[in-house]
Amino acid sequence: MIIAIDGPAGVGKSTVAKLLASRLGYLYLDTGALYRAVAWKTLRSRIRPADHARVATLLPTTSIHMQFHEGAMQVLVDGCDVTGQLRAPDVTAAASIVSAIPAVREWLLPIQRQIGQGGSVVAEGRDIGTKVFPAASFKFFLDAAADVRVARRHRELVAAGRGDSIETTSHDLSARDQRDRTRSIDPLVPAVDARFIDTSTLSPDQVVEQMIMAVSTGS
Ligand code: C5P
Repeated sequence: MIIAIDGPAGVGKSTVAKLLASRLGYLYLDTGALYRAVAWKTLRSRIRPADHARVATLLPTTSIHMQFHEGAMQVLVDGCDVTGQLRAPDVTAAASIVSAIPAVREWLLPIQRQIGQGGSVVAEGRDIGTKVFPAASFKFFLDAAADVRVARRHRELVAAGRGDSIETTSHDLSARDQRDRTRSIDPLVPAVDARFIDTSTLSPDQVVEQMIMAVSTGS
């Protein structure tokens, strides 16, 4: 069984997807980490993320692997563990830019599908229900009011030791959202058969309860 969770940044997807995966004993697949890995390699290769042609030429000589151990995920790029570097601000911004490159999306598709092949996966991203796993058993689309998403993301950044102002966080988040929603390939849109959950006033546990209820009743 595959459970797809899509939605914009700051909506609580990762927290909820991790919790749900651990409650069900499923694998948690963070597909954003794959886009971040391509972004990491792009920056490391001193290529501009918006340079579609040059980013595309990197792919045939790049290897990206995800390893899973006791619920933790490691991302290896060309054999090197880059997990700890994937949430740096420059990688975050670059991921949102390289993710609009069709060659990048095509290249990452089989990697995601191969991880999902074993089943029992909670996969989180932007196009999981629409593109990566269109036949997923359950699809959820999470959203929340913009100010709530900004405040959540700001709290996460502060907790991670980064002192970005709320204005910078708000600006970065809306720029990312705008790119994700308006790109020509696999834009962020709810799948027609996704269950919509507004997380604005819900705790992660409450969201997970709703999901577990839907999964267990098949409704
Ligand atoms: O989810 P996360 O914030 O880690 O994703 C980083 C970026 O990767 C997003 O801003 C989005 O542009 C891209 N992404 C995507 N499709 C996915 C997952 C992430 O385009 N399935």
